[in-house]
Amino acid sequence: MTFAIHGLAVARGIAIGRAVLVTSSRLDVAHYFLQPDQVAAEIVRVRTSRNAVIEELKRLQAELPREAPPELGALLDVHVQLLQDEALVSGVKHFIVDQRYNAEWALTAQLEIIARQFSEMEDEYLRERVADLEQVVERILRHMKGVASPVSPPPPVPSRRAGDPVLSEAAAAARVLVAHDLSPADMLHFKQSVFAGFVTDVGGKTSHTAIVARSLDIPAVVGTRSASQLVRQDDWVIIDGDAGVVIVDPPPMILAEYGFRQRQGALECERLARLLHTPAITLDGEKVALLANIEQPEDAAAALKAGAAGVGLFRSEFLFMGREGRLPGEEEQYQAYCRAVEGMQGLPVTIRTVDVGADKPLDRTPKEATHLNPALGLRAIRWSLADPAMFRTQLRAILRAAAHGPVDLLFPMIGAASEIRHTLALLDHARAELDNRGAPRGEPRVGAMIEIPAAAIMVRQFLRYFDFVSIGTNDLIQYTLAIDRADEAVAHLYDPLHPAVLRLVADVIAEANAQGKGVSVCGEMAGDTAMTRLLLGLGLRSFSMHPAQILAVKQEILRTDAASQVAWARDVVAAEDPASLI
Ligand code: PEP
Ligand code: MG
Repeated sequence: MTFAIHGLAVARGIAIGRAVLVTSSRLDVAHYFLQPDQVAAEIVRVRTSRNAVIEELKRLQAELPREAPPELGALLDVHVQLLQDEALVSGVKHFIVDQRYNAEWALTAQLEIIARQFSEMEDEYLRERVADLEQVVERILRHMKGVASPVSPPPPVPSRRAGDPVLSEAAAAARVLVAHDLSPADMLHFKQSVFAGFVTDVGGKTSHTAIVARSLDIPAVVGTRSASQLVRQDDWVIIDGDAGVVIVDPPPMILAEYGFRQRQGALECERLARLLHTPAITLDGEKVALLANIEQPEDAAAALKAGAAGVGLFRSEFLFMGREGRLPGEEEQYQAYCRAVEGMQGLPVTIRTVDVGADKPLDRTPKEATHLNPALGLRAIRWSLADPAMFRTQLRAILRAAAHGPVDLLFPMIGAASEIRHTLALLDHARAELDNRGAPRGEPRVGAMIEIPAAAIMVRQFLRYFDFVSIGTNDLIQYTLAIDRADEAVAHLYDPLHPAVLRLVADVIAEANAQGKGVSVCGEMAGDTAMTRLLLGLGLRSFSMHPAQILAVKQEILRTDAASQVAWARDVVAAEDPASLI
């Protein structure tokens, strides 16, 4: 049966493929695909853990004190039976062997299937066994924790089924990922696979999962609320990343229409590719720097391929995530930064110090253990300043990498002058540590992200300390409008064109230009072609965005006369309803 699910359009384009489901279990686990030669070991890993848990439960049962209520023994019995149940074991094996899911993913996927069957049962007793099932799976997962398998390439293509649409080989092989939520660390794992698109139940337009999806340049829809419940494994799905719609089990006519739109999109990309070597200069001769946002050193290749003039934002926190809390040391970070610097072949690289917290957790901390308001908590520079030794380790690694090419250093979420002084003192300390050691180092330019309203308001004073500022519009909008950027329930209020946001952006650009300091925008606003003319009119000459957005923004720049936008841009910022003038 065909049906449509609506969400938020976060990464443009059309994707058509079979659904791969990442289940919505409350158990938060890593998801990645196995190499063929890892499959056997993964099955052993689950079996060993399951057997160990059975032994553990039996031991518990044997050691139950006499006065323990009889229900307790019966409950442990139920748990042992669930663990021995063929449906669990064979289902998990199927996901590992046929889909090449890692063991944790396979377990939670099978848990979801059995839980669904239980919850549809008439018998109340059986319906209530879902909680027991979750508990035993949780026990197995706990047992397996720490025994991780490496990340790997795509899963095998499911075989054709009767009634499948007739598509080219490439189209028939396409898969789309449907999940309740994906952590940024999961997204990095999936980056190395070949999903044609993403759908998630939760998330806002600038949640970090959406940002990574955009950086992959594949269609994505987030905030659908229930897609992971409604879509089933292997369903045919169309993701319309322009409209924010997901069509499940489409009839041939709809498939043909979207196939046509997909080809149109590919043609548009080919047309834009012709601009690759054209310098980004406005009609009136203003040079504009188009820079790339990257998450990993390896992304430098995509940045170069898109014709970026450098990296305007290297989100270094992705080196810190999904490592079970074990932080990368100085040498490991240094190597990673060097790879980015070398990858950019002499073009500048702006490395932002670690920005964890909020929707970028370091580890898979259980939801209940996280701060109630993580976006307002110990995040970004606050986290770094709270652990000076860890922070200095990162600063030393960046300073050393700066000896290998042009590096700029960027601090996230600066909000107060005292924080700036504390930060710069630690930078001095890190420099001195390297000098004492005789280690070669560079002298990066130093900048601050302007992403808290307080920083935007104080920018005149704050600029005294910095060579440049970079406006993080994603957070600036979140904090100015008090809208959690990751919460789909308030996503309709997340408004880049809110007059308060525009005024702060305009003031920061004007103040930095007046002081002769560098200023760029590195939030999602920079890659939005609907905002290009306005930002040019406000005096912005440096934009940092996903590599995939660079050519479309360049096209806008080539068509714009910057001087003639100035008065209009002023009117837009002063308007009560700026959107009506855009
Ligand atoms: C921003 O806030 O606009 C930004 C670029 O940083 P991040 O999206 O990583 O928070
Ligand atoms: Mg930010």
